[in-house]
Amino acid sequence: MDIRNIAIIAHVDHGKTTLVDELLKQSEKKNAHEAIQERAMDSNDIERERGITILAKNTAIEYKGVRINILDTPGHADFGGEVERIMKMVDAVVLVVDAYEGSMPQTRFVLKKALESGLKPIVVINKIDRAFARPTEAVNEVFDLFIELEANEAQLDFPIIYASGIKGLASYNKEFDDAVDMKPLLDTIIEYVPAPGQDVQASLQFQPALLDYNEYVGRIGIGKIIRGTIKMNQMVSCVRLDGTIKQFRVQKLFSYIGLDRIEVAEAYAGDIVAIAGLPDIYVGETVCEIGQEEALPILHIDEPTVQMTF
Ligand code: GDP
Repeated sequence: MDIRNIAIIAHVDHGKTTLVDELLKQSEKKNAHEAIQERAMDSNDIERERGITILAKNTAIEYKGVRINILDTPGHADFGGEVERIMKMVDAVVLVVDAYEGSMPQTRFVLKKALESGLKPIVVINKIDRAFARPTEAVNEVFDLFIELEANEAQLDFPIIYASGIKGLASYNKEFDDAVDMKPLLDTIIEYVPAPGQDVQASLQFQPALLDYNEYVGRIGIGKIIRGTIKMNQMVSCVRLDGTIKQFRVQKLFSYIGLDRIEVAEAYAGDIVAIAGLPDIYVGETVCEIGQEEALPILHIDEPTVQMTF
């Protein structure tokens, strides 16, 4: 399946959550999402009753037959290089900027990380419906920020979408009189964001970039399948940070649909998945096929923090 992996970045309150919710509502998977959510409730009702939500920060939508993985980024201080690690999993970012407030400190912080990672941004000038929205100034501020942060030419050539997340509207024009839905943003994502490498024939490489925890399955590694395929119940090797190898069985393999993680039997290169089975799996290790162990470069992590969501 055709895939796009993006991160959504913004200053706090500029409308990330509302915008992603709206994309979800307007994507083709809406009905399937609801059906799957019900099914997931059946198998995981204890977990849900106890209020344990895991992997809630990832969203996947389907639009024009393309699967779009949307990774949220922390709207606060970056713990342990989490933003950088998210940037490594995606092929572009959507930078959301409030049309009234313009560029703010967090806008600068997250954009800097995205540009340093070599990613091309799509700029969304959001909340166009606000009474004193000033889209032209907001675009100019964003452009100045790109210059200040030494964006390269390709990055500077960013597409701009004007949007009102709350109304579910987007347009290529700041006049906004042609806005009827979010399709201009969805189309821009499909057309502008490069597809990830999808070498499914090669031998497996998967690298957890984020960790999560669930009391039933233990530690969960979230990351991108760099190449190959991974199957539920497969015996695999993990190349540890110290270079040793530990074999384990993939006990759970999760993909994303809507806001939910769902168990899948198999997943392919390019996709972002979560796996359980190695109780002490760690950020930056590499999961490979047995006998074909080849470590990926270790990911940057500032401190040995484990991101846990209970
Ligand atoms: P986040 O912190 O970036 O995830 O922002 P939220 O999506 O939670 O939105 C922050 C606030 O802005 C909330 O009160 C939203 O209702 C409001 N908001 C979000 N999108 C829009 C929009 O398009 N127009 C207006 N006027 N308000 C919005």
